[in-house]
Amino acid sequence: MSVPIKTAEFSVTMRERGINVDAERLRITNFSGSGQEEDFTEPSNCRGFGRVRHFRRQTSEGWPENPLPIDPAAQALGMDLQAETLNAQVFQNAVCNWRCWYCFVDFDLLSGSSEHSEMLTPAELVAMYAEEDGRPPIIDLSGGQPDLIPEWAPWMIRALEERGLRDKVYLWSDDNLSNDYFWRYLTAEDRTILDSNPMYGKVCCFKGFDDHSFAFNTAAEPELFTQQLSLMGRLLSQTEIDLYAYATFTSDMSEGLGVALPAFVDRLQELDANLPLRTIPLEVATFTPVVSRMNEDRERALSIQQEAIAMWNEELRRRFSDSERSTPICDVRLRSGR
Ligand code: SF4
Repeated sequence: MSVPIKTAEFSVTMRERGINVDAERLRITNFSGSGQEEDFTEPSNCRGFGRVRHFRRQTSEGWPENPLPIDPAAQALGMDLQAETLNAQVFQNAVCNWRCWYCFVDFDLLSGSSEHSEMLTPAELVAMYAEEDGRPPIIDLSGGQPDLIPEWAPWMIRALEERGLRDKVYLWSDDNLSNDYFWRYLTAEDRTILDSNPMYGKVCCFKGFDDHSFAFNTAAEPELFTQQLSLMGRLLSQTEIDLYAYATFTSDMSEGLGVALPAFVDRLQELDANLPLRTIPLEVATFTPVVSRMNEDRERALSIQQEAIAMWNEELRRRFSDSERSTPICDVRLRSGR
C-alpha cells in the first residue's frame, strides 16, 4: 500500500489554492474538456463553470432510494415531496484533500490547477446562474471538498440575498468530513447564516464503514475514519444546520463485515439515535474518470459493497419500525434531546 495522504498538511495546501479570503474569491472548476464532462447528459452551463445535475430518487435493486437533496429541497421550496427527480445547478470547487479511487471527478480537477479552474466571486457565480434560462431552484456546492473553503456557503447566501434570490433558491453543500475548517475559519456571523436556515442543507459523506474501508477508499490515514464521526458529532451537537449523510461501502476485504457493518450503525446511533435514517448509502459505479483507476481489489470492492448494503438494510429493519423507515428523510428528527 502506498504512503497515506498527510491530510492535515495537504488540506493547508489545498485551501491556499482554493480561496483568496481578502478578495472573496474561490477556485471553481471549469468543466470544458474534462473527462468528467464525458459523463454529462447535457453540456456544461454558466460558461463552463456549471452543470445541471438530474438527481434521481430511484437506485439499483437492493439499494435504498436516494431522496437527497430532492426531499429537503422540495420541502423548503414548497414543491411535491415525492418527486422522482429534481434538477440542481452544480458548481464544483477545484480542490480536494483526498483521492478516493471511485471519485467521479478527474483528479486533475481536484488539485487547484489553474488550467481547469478560475478564482471567482460568489457574486459572479450567482450572476451566471441568474442568466441561465430555466435555471433549477437548487444550487449544489460540490467538489472537490467544499469544506476546505467553508466560507463558500455563507458567501453564496449573501450573494443570493443581494440578487433578491435568497428565499427562492435552496442551497445544498457537500462535506467529506476531513477537517475542522468550519470551526476554524467561519465567523460567528457566517455560522448564524447557516444555522436553522430553511433554505440550506448540508450532506456529510462517510467514506467507508470502518478504518480499513475508509483508508482503502480515500488513500488517507485510517484513523481519520473516527475523526469523520467526531466531526459529524460536533456539527450535530454545536449547530442547528439541517444535516444529512451519505456513506460508501466499498472495501477490498469482506472478512469481518458482519461485525463491522452493525458496529458502524452503532457508531452513527451514538451520535444521534436517528442518524441512520438520515444516512443514504451510495452505490459506487465506474464513471469515465474511474475506469483507468480500476484494479483487482477495486473490482472486488464493487461486489463487497453489495454484501454490505444487504447488511445495512437488515440492520435498519432490525432497529427501526416500518413507519420510522418510511418517514420522509427531511422529517426525521435529529437532536431530539435538545
Ligand atoms: S472526497 Fe469527494 S471529491 Fe474528494 S476525492 Fe473523495 S469523492 Fe472525490
